Amino acid sequence: MVQQAQPRPLLNRRLADLGTTIFAEMSELAVSTGSVNLGQGFPDTDGPEQIARAAADAILSGRGNQYPPGAGIGELRTAIAAHQRRFYDLDVDPGTEVLVTAGATEAIAAALLALVEPGDEVIAFEPYYDSYAACIAMAAGIRVPVTLRAPDFRPDLDELRAAVTDRTRLILLNSPHNPTGSVFTRAELTAIAELATASDLLVISDEVYEHMVFDGEHVPIASLPGMRERTVSISSAAKTFSFTGWKIGWITATPDLVTAVRTVKQFLTFVSGGPFQYAIAEALAMPRDYFSGVAGSLAARRDMMCDGLAAAGFEVYRPAGTYFITTDIRPFGESSGLDFCRKLPYQAGVVAIPSVVFYDNAEAGQTQVRFAFCKKVEVLAEALARLSALRPG
Ligand code: PMP
Ligand code: GLN
Repeated sequence: MVQQAQPRPLLNRRLADLGTTIFAEMSELAVSTGSVNLGQGFPDTDGPEQIARAAADAILSGRGNQYPPGAGIGELRTAIAAHQRRFYDLDVDPGTEVLVTAGATEAIAAALLALVEPGDEVIAFEPYYDSYAACIAMAAGIRVPVTLRAPDFRPDLDELRAAVTDRTRLILLNSPHNPTGSVFTRAELTAIAELATASDLLVISDEVYEHMVFDGEHVPIASLPGMRERTVSISSAAKTFSFTGWKIGWITATPDLVTAVRTVKQFLTFVSGGPFQYAIAEALAMPRDYFSGVAGSLAARRDMMCDGLAAAGFEVYRPAGTYFITTDIRPFGESSGLDFCRKLPYQAGVVAIPSVVFYDNAEAGQTQVRFAFCKKVEVLAEALARLSALRPG
């Protein structure tokens, strides 16, 4: 018999296990079932009108409609540097130490593609935001998970130390942490910084939830001794200003790191959303009240959702930051978060995210389900009313 050659898979084999992002699957399910979507994290209220107007004005007055500078417009780079100084007392040169990206998503991708050689190990705390695994795979790196465990989701520093080998290139950090809402303490970050310095590791620090801290404080790891020169700090306008569709993100780092990441960025997107950059430059200069208001209004919704989800029967892990709550569904006698989330829209008209997709060590997250609370209070109240129908016992 003639052997049929197996057709070569179309998708690069390194990416074969990535599949469709859970956010797309669940958002589509929300639409098709008419469910309240507490899955994908995007607010249902736009950011400040004054900032939306600034973007519209930029378009209409012809600012940014043609390719802006590759590193980002000067006004935005200056505003990003001023923000780092105002909130963290960090000195950043807007000329050489800032790069504007197409959201934090591109910043993560470009940083990993720039800094990771095939076979390099990248340590990340799991559960991790799903683009981390994808981008490490695209860079042909090897991801090395260190698990944050319920109920507190604290980084286990001994486990972290044990994960470092002579092939480790960098630690990919995310605090405030999606999906657990954990905010790493200064002491924890100091220990991580000491390890990075002692082992000569780079750090990519995803700080997109920097202004969404309810308990504790946000400490950029770049502000700790020895870290300025080895950290790529990443943030985004998406969360802080509630414009997730604008895709304006940025990195701050030393000129050499910025040059490396920019080398990749120029061939991914070349430049990012010109008119929106003018608007975000204005947004970053808003008074402190704006930033504290973001956290304050989310903190109230965090409390409401923690209470409501607990009353509905979930085990609730109260987040110190972000706009996500991780819960456990074992009180319902359920053992698979994935099955639970696929049934929930039909059973209760609510969409959530099964956190297991954010783990390599599936065991640790099998029964965890994440709810986003960046929604209007009445929408959250409706979701809780629907979920109360599930009450166990
Ligand atoms: N990192 C984390 C941890 C996130 O939750 C998000 C939000 N999707 C991003 C990065 C991406 O941000 P952006 O929308 O700016 O690309
Ligand atoms: N950061 C958001 C979340 O975790 C949005 C994800 C996305 O749209 N890729 O839900």
